[in-house]
Amino acid sequence: MAHAPERILVTGGAGFIGSHAALRLLEEGHLVTIVDDLSRGNSGAIEALRQVGPVAFVEGDIGDRDLMRQIMREQDTQCVWHFAALAYVGESVEQPLRYYRQNATASINLLSVMDELNIEKLVFSSTCATYGEPETNLIPIREDCPQQPINPYGRSKLLVEHAVRDLAIARHARGQSFHAAMLRYFNVAGSDPEGRLGEDHDPETHLIPICLEAVLGRRDSVKIFGTDYPTPDGTCIRDFVHVSDLIDAHLVAMRSLGASASDETVRAYNVGTGSGLSVREVVEACRAVTGVDFPVEEVARRPGDPPKLCADAGRIEAVLGWTAARPQIEQMVKDAWRWRQQHPFGFRSV
Ligand code: UDP
Repeated sequence: MAHAPERILVTGGAGFIGSHAALRLLEEGHLVTIVDDLSRGNSGAIEALRQVGPVAFVEGDIGDRDLMRQIMREQDTQCVWHFAALAYVGESVEQPLRYYRQNATASINLLSVMDELNIEKLVFSSTCATYGEPETNLIPIREDCPQQPINPYGRSKLLVEHAVRDLAIARHARGQSFHAAMLRYFNVAGSDPEGRLGEDHDPETHLIPICLEAVLGRRDSVKIFGTDYPTPDGTCIRDFVHVSDLIDAHLVAMRSLGASASDETVRAYNVGTGSGLSVREVVEACRAVTGVDFPVEEVARRPGDPPKLCADAGRIEAVLGWTAARPQIEQMVKDAWRWRQQHPFGFRSV
């Protein structure tokens, strides 16, 4: 079914997930404006998007209210997909105020401009890090599991969730509408199956891209952080979701916003496959897909890593009809590997 084009602002659209979101929105015929300060994003991703369709790009700070007001007025924005954030747990422990400033304060500034301009729809990139370290009997994690983050990254995202809910309540009390979907991502992997975009972080901290760098000989080995967790093979367990599936979830979430009067106006959804894989299993999948038996080194735990994070994705399936179309880790690694082979130095390879 065709959907009417909307004017959508994508914050953080030069980053891994934001650029994949912008790509899909362009393909669906929406009018896309990206704001990204390029502190973590890649200008190469913007160039790749320009091959797909007309995309407006502004290099700037999403916490700058004057700038954001000007952009959203000019573009007559109808909906915001908000990805711009810092997302390294370890870094957030070392530089908490930077995380509160860039993730929480900047988001609150963005929300105030949305409120001022009466922009009524938001899809917010939240995280399973808002749950912290759930009791084993609460895994797989449901959305109503207590949110007790164990690091500043998770706390900065949770603060935004609260602000979004409070804004919705206040706007409704004033007789104004506001609808938001807050998607709590588990571990996002893979890349555009057509190879136009990929995952390129600097510094790289994520397991799959690190394994692929080892495959390419750009690292001597992959460090496994902790082999003494209370899990079957002693390594952490994570729920990996393909970035294309994650973006599908954003699309169905956006379409649901304000679709019926009985809808809850702010809703949180887990986005994961519901099946957990250990770090060792992911390493094995990377070896199997690439055919390269890179060395691993077992080292101490990384601070801030909960032993097991696995989604109960029942709500998003029941309410929005979303399930992961590409739940196999091999598919995620294969897509990530295809892009990596063509871009051994990331976007700089072009
Ligand atoms: N991990 C690892 N070695 C690495 C990078 C990550 O053992 O070089 C582990 C990490 O401790 C965690 C899992 O892989 O248990 C996923 O980490 P990643 O940084 O990819 O994502 P996160 O779970 O932090 O969002």
